[in-house]
Amino acid sequence: MATAARTTQICRNFINGQWVESRSGKTMERRNPANLDEVVAVVPLSTREEVREAIAAAKAAFPAWRDTPTPVRGKIIGKAAALLTEQKEEVARILTHEEGKIYKESLVEVQRAINIVEFMAGEGRRLGGQTLPSEMPNTFAYTIKQPLGVVGAITPWNFPVAIPFWKAAPALVTGNTMVMKPAEITPLTALKMAEIFAQAGLPPGVLNIVLGAGEDVGDELVQHPDVHAISFTGSNEVGGIIYAAGARKMKKCQCEMGGKNPLVILSDADLKLAVESAASGAFGSSGQRCTATSRVVVEEKIADQFVSMLVARAKEFTTGDGFDENVAVGPLVDENQIETVMRYLEIGKREAKLLLGGGRVTGGMHDRGLFISPTIFDHVKWDSTIAQEEIFGPVLSVIRVPDFEEALRVANSVKYGLSSSIYTNDSAKIHAFIDRIESGMTHVNSGTVWSEAHLPFGGMKGTGIGLREMGSIAVDFYTELKSVYIDYGARKQ
Ligand code: NAD
Repeated sequence: MATAARTTQICRNFINGQWVESRSGKTMERRNPANLDEVVAVVPLSTREEVREAIAAAKAAFPAWRDTPTPVRGKIIGKAAALLTEQKEEVARILTHEEGKIYKESLVEVQRAINIVEFMAGEGRRLGGQTLPSEMPNTFAYTIKQPLGVVGAITPWNFPVAIPFWKAAPALVTGNTMVMKPAEITPLTALKMAEIFAQAGLPPGVLNIVLGAGEDVGDELVQHPDVHAISFTGSNEVGGIIYAAGARKMKKCQCEMGGKNPLVILSDADLKLAVESAASGAFGSSGQRCTATSRVVVEEKIADQFVSMLVARAKEFTTGDGFDENVAVGPLVDENQIETVMRYLEIGKREAKLLLGGGRVTGGMHDRGLFISPTIFDHVKWDSTIAQEEIFGPVLSVIRVPDFEEALRVANSVKYGLSSSIYTNDSAKIHAFIDRIESGMTHVNSGTVWSEAHLPFGGMKGTGIGLREMGSIAVDFYTELKSVYIDYGARKQ
């Protein structure tokens, strides 16, 4: 069994290559969600002035970093990937201790970050524009990608290793400097990232981390005139605030937000596979994934059989401390999440038929932590609250439909559009689903949660605004395209 370093960390900001104590005098305690008796970190609630200092450091570091050859920048990013690989277990332990997800999932998250950073290091040798024909004789026409300057990143707590890395790596390899504000409840993983980049040789000021509240530290990043773009991942509520504020300042904004991902199961599906995907997609990471399976849309004629298999499988998902190898579902991240999920459970009990779970897990070690039992609601109406709103807990809604057309309509009936999945062997329906499902990512005969570093990640409709993250396209958000026309003069001779 892996264990975490059980000491309380006093967090400092990382500004201009230095670990700097906040002058605000205000702090918050972060406790281990699997055992609230343990204080994991004391986190400063930094001031706007401290954010401005970080922005000034990033601005001062920009010219030299922009002029560093792109392959050399890529090499530093590659070194960071190698260091993260060496420190994989340590980072995974910090993650489980701070955020609560089970250690096995933490290792997967860190590996995902490694894959992304390795891929982005390669952009150092790939970053290019297009060579295009010109209408004019003796004219060479092409495009180049150039950095924006200082960029801001605002990140959530649910993937506190992968998301900071997936924003920092493309921003830095393309020559930008960055100020990042991680979620206040998961500071240690972001600070670890800063340490790794510094060890890899990133010059001071190129990456800065300021800890604190969204309304102060996050908002200062959005408002400050020297920050040219904001990459945000988090809730729709906050994304809306940031997008509106960014628009008023004419800032480039990328907002990746919530999901309500459907898994459609048709009557010819391999039910064993579908059950496995539904259960792991709904209860893995305690349902606190933007790509979590939160709705199963199943054809009525196999629904009873599917539901009884699903309930049997879900009963095997034991809750507990993420460091315990026998545990499949860790705690929720904090009391706010517990409160939100409990509110939806009460709504669900009025709207649908509760088959499993429906409340907190208590007794023994559970009394010290924040545990919700894996929950399944059946006979959920497609337009009910629990079928429409993101719950972000281990809660699965089963919606029964008569046929494929209704399944597709129901799958598309939410404001979100992140991920989706269909289980069937009918090739016509597979292609119709791929064509018509409204989601940025889709899966056939696999669950909603999988994604790979070299493919774009992000959603449509209410989930995503701006360019996609990950894959080669990730660099587009962090660059301006310049069109170049060179008249090399032969026609004048
Ligand atoms: P959140 O919106 O509450 O917070 C995200 C970040 O925004 C935090 O750092 C927070 O401090 C900051 N913030 C809050 N108010 C702010 C303000 N007024 N100005 C600037 N910054 C502010 O989200 P969360 O609870 O941390 O994360 C969970 C959400 O993230 C879920 O909705 C989930 O679906 C979503 N998410 C989406 C993706 C994706 O790629 N689509 C990935 C992971 C998580």
